[in-house]
Amino acid sequence: MSAAAASTVTFESRFATELAEMGIPWKAEEVPNPRLLVLNEPLAAELGFDPGFLRSPEGLRLLIGNDVPAGAAPVAQAYSGHQFGGFSPRLGDGRALLLGEISDAGGRLRDIHLKGSGRTPFARGGDGFAVVGPMLREYIVSEAMHALGIPTTRSLAVVATDRPVQRETVLPGAVLTRVAGSHLRVGSFQYARVAGDDGLLRRLADHAIARHYPDAAEADNPYLALFDAVIGAQAALLARWMLVGFIHGVMNTDNMAISGETIDYGPCAFMDAFDPATVYSSIDENGRYAYANQPLIAEWNLTRLAEALLPLFDDDEERAVERAQESLGEFRRQYSSAWLAGMKAKLGLHGGVADDVASHLIDDLLGLLQEGRVDYTSFFRRLGSAARGNGGPARSMFTEPDAFGAWTERWRTLNPDADRMDRVNPAYVPRNHLVEEALAAGTNGDLEPLGRLLEAVTDPYNERPGVERYKEAAPESFGPYRTFCGT
Ligand code: AMP
Ligand code: MG
Repeated sequence: MSAAAASTVTFESRFATELAEMGIPWKAEEVPNPRLLVLNEPLAAELGFDPGFLRSPEGLRLLIGNDVPAGAAPVAQAYSGHQFGGFSPRLGDGRALLLGEISDAGGRLRDIHLKGSGRTPFARGGDGFAVVGPMLREYIVSEAMHALGIPTTRSLAVVATDRPVQRETVLPGAVLTRVAGSHLRVGSFQYARVAGDDGLLRRLADHAIARHYPDAAEADNPYLALFDAVIGAQAALLARWMLVGFIHGVMNTDNMAISGETIDYGPCAFMDAFDPATVYSSIDENGRYAYANQPLIAEWNLTRLAEALLPLFDDDEERAVERAQESLGEFRRQYSSAWLAGMKAKLGLHGGVADDVASHLIDDLLGLLQEGRVDYTSFFRRLGSAARGNGGPARSMFTEPDAFGAWTERWRTLNPDADRMDRVNPAYVPRNHLVEEALAAGTNGDLEPLGRLLEAVTDPYNERPGVERYKEAAPESFGPYRTFCGT
């Protein structure tokens, strides 16, 4: 029965076929003893998989690419990328594969992708592997982002390979099975552009339009419409990141998706104490990807996308540049308006509150949060109680509560809506100390902390008894926190 259930999921190889120049046919490394660490049953169902089958030995072989389903044609995808500002024309999937695409229950085409599946021709010096900790981190954080309502790639499963992998120490290997609207990146367009083949660039853009922005096909200039749509999606995405305190950590152009989904969870983290300069990634020495820089970096990356797309905007280069600049101007406007609307919601302010009044209130509040190094997530949740008349819990977070008291008076005259606040201010996010606890245990074979953390963060707005410790800030003894990339 399980084999029959599996066969109802039909794989396709559209990327591999339509964009053959951008993929190298490849196979995942054979894993003799795969062991399932975590399976996302709701996502499996959404994709049409029988979870019982995925747990079976054949299912595990599918999840790690050792059995290639009919219709799939796995490829290592080629892409370029600006990494910390420096351009690498040939990056590509060094340790990942696009297995193929499937249509989900809603008829949407989704990529099934493997991370940690062995060396590919793009591996350069890397070993092609991934280890349990970072793959569980991607699973936790991507599923938390999804539950928060933030566009993201999804995690279907993490499978342990029982292969020892050399990092600073020897660590257990794992493969993540990732699901995405697509894996088209800004870097994919950069790759097509440096290939100097306008036909390829056009085919890639047409593929992106068909998959993500079909309305653009009807526009006077479909490629400019594609660019505008990506700008809109990224402006909305970045506003969501900033509002929830998410720090991606490595916003290279190869890690920015055309779909507007958050992609490539490496050294990412949720901000604890509010500070615009927060950087967690150990390799981000100059703070290029610090919390407050993220919208600027997104705009910078979109400018690189514009450069890649220029030949499609207009035959006349000057005119093409003009049109790109007009479009790029929209990013700031759309980002700012999405961010302000989101901040107003976080403060429970009604639509009728004037933007300049709200902006002043927000600026003053953020100043106070920064000064007091106040825990960002807890603060907004406690502010919901303040809107209900219980100001103590929020007030107690400030070392100098009087200034906050005065701010609260101003805010309360605007009649904040506490229920609205609870719908947008999460109680549970994957806090750094909890993520580390789950990864350390998971690496040692204890998956219970992972399961409990997932339970909390996949239902983030619904505060409930039994999971109190998941909404508390890290203990004083935790930190300073550092995350690591390329792991
Ligand atoms: P990332 O930081 O995960 O976005 O990766 C950046 C680039 O390095 C991509 O081309 C990856 O495929 C490649 N890469 C990262 N880790 C490894 C590894 N262990 N083996 C081979 N390639 C890797
Ligand atoms: Mg990447």
